[in-house]
Amino acid sequence: MANYSMFEPSFSMDIMKMKNSHTFSVVRTKVTNFVRLPLDAINGTESQRYGKAQEYSDKLAEELNKISNQKSCSSADFVNALKSVISPHNINFNVEQKLVDGTTGTIQREVNYNKSYKRLRNKVVEKTDADIVGYTINLKLKNKGTIIEDKVSALHEARHLFDYICNPKTIQFRSFKFLYDTNKLENYKRTYDLMVNDYLPFRSMKSIKKEMKNNLSKMENADGIETLQSIRRGLKTEKNAYNDGNKFMKKQPFKYLFDIFAYGDYVRAMRFDKKLEFVNGLLSEKLKAERDVLKQKYSK
Ligand SMILES: [Zn+2]
Repeated sequence: MANYSMFEPSFSMDIMKMKNSHTFSVVRTKVTNFVRLPLDAINGTESQRYGKAQEYSDKLAEELNKISNQKSCSSADFVNALKSVISPHNINFNVEQKLVDGTTGTIQREVNYNKSYKRLRNKVVEKTDADIVGYTINLKLKNKGTIIEDKVSALHEARHLFDYICNPKTIQFRSFKFLYDTNKLENYKRTYDLMVNDYLPFRSMKSIKKEMKNNLSKMENADGIETLQSIRRGLKTEKNAYNDGNKFMKKQPFKYLFDIFAYGDYVRAMRFDKKLEFVNGLLSEKLKAERDVLKQKYSK
């Protein structure tokens, strides 16, 4: 069951679109209250925040079993169940069917771009603000959009949404830094996909690690850190989403017999834990290098 999150890649595509239509020099992103929980609801540690997302997801899984005993369910019921799970908080999301080939579900940020012009010394600079205002969950729908074909995919994408609203930093546009340089952006995208999205069952971890290190060697240290952090967040939320799907199916093993096997094969091939371990190691090396540079700079 190929179930790729198109979150980061689709956002890179957005940037490419913007880049072609005009030039701009200052970019600010704003994570609005429509896409995140209020600060006091998420002021714990990272593991507490993921724990909260887990509670939401477990509650939604229960609701999904209540609203239908089929593999499919009504779209309206799913939307209501998701809303009731996160209530009293309000999050702006909708369910649609804009799927990329080969995927059974995706989640995207909805972004409003506001252009403005500013005079800086003797030249006019275009400034683009990107306000993240909502999410679109794309799923396979039937009966004119009223039925969601697969509850497991719906739960998977919802888990991403829970992780995002509990960890608003994860939805910021990290890669705006790479914007001015197509090669940098391409390298970032390739590296992210290699680790988080690409299905490479026949490639050894050794060869994936080698390619990853090679891509990183072409980045400045700070860009490398951004990239690794974004990959780390991507791996974490994918791992969570697959775990939840698996847990959900295993409660009804006979209904999902074939899916459980296919899912297991896919998740094993993705090697989320091995990749997380590798990325965490690289990240602490890079952060240490960055700290050493700062230390040297200020001890002179
Ligand atoms: Zn996903």
